[in-house]
Amino acid sequence: MQTTLPNGEGIRWPEGRNVAVLLTFDFDADRLQAAYFGREDLPFADRSRGLYGPDEGLARCLRMLERQAVPATFFVPGAICRRYPDHVRAIAAAGHEVAYHGDLHDSHGAPVPLETERENMDRAEEAIAALTGKKPVGCRLPGGYQQSYTVDLLLERGYRYSSAANPARCCDWAYLYEKDGKKQPLAEFSTDPMLEDLPYYFFTFVAPHHKASYNNAAVREIWQDEFNGRRAEGDKFLCLKLHPALIGRSSRCKMLEDLIVYMRENGAWFATCAQAADYVIARNSPAGEEGAR
Ligand SMILES: [Zn+2]
Repeated sequence: MQTTLPNGEGIRWPEGRNVAVLLTFDFDADRLQAAYFGREDLPFADRSRGLYGPDEGLARCLRMLERQAVPATFFVPGAICRRYPDHVRAIAAAGHEVAYHGDLHDSHGAPVPLETERENMDRAEEAIAALTGKKPVGCRLPGGYQQSYTVDLLLERGYRYSSAANPARCCDWAYLYEKDGKKQPLAEFSTDPMLEDLPYYFFTFVAPHHKASYNNAAVREIWQDEFNGRRAEGDKFLCLKLHPALIGRSSRCKMLEDLIVYMRENGAWFATCAQAADYVIARNSPAGEEGAR
């Protein structure tokens, strides 16, 4: 029996491509470990693995993206902008997008009062704009969580998209948030641990333990199969959520590069999240191109 349930919104991506690929990097350095352990006095080995991002992984990822001439989105906490200004300038100079990822990267799913979050955004937006010349238009809160007020706050501040773990809908297609039955100019690119590097590569020596170190071929197979499935369905995006400290190791970065080559040869439209959001918003505007099947 064939289902009559809708499957996505039937979007066609630019250039007749069947699937949008959003390469996203959360540039957290050791703030990832601080959030995971919930403390600042990290064991040296764990802190050091976080610092692999700014010390080595980021540069390798940027070189790889340049070789493949694909754009990416970097979610960067304000604190990281202030600590590694040259790194963030290099990201922007290479043509990639820099987006909001908290200020200290410390909420991680815990309730944050609205006024505190306004202050976080003020500080982080200022830090990003000082280095890139642009205010961010996209948001991924630390841990990928949203607060109850997040959507209203993003709309109020002129953001164009969110990329979260638990958004209004859980699906593989891009949609706009709605308010009072009306679509708003705010797209969602939801994420899932299956398409993150963290579940496969995050490793700690002390509790709470997370001792993942997957075979790269196995990770590529999961991501490539998911890409193939979404491309076959024809109205989806694929958002890879990565960290320079994890995917930036030589062998893993090579695996990602090989996958990017495969995806390019098989119909991917590579875009920053802002580019994809602009496309989804324009398509949903009254004068927008329908593009539906
Ligand atoms: Zn993060």
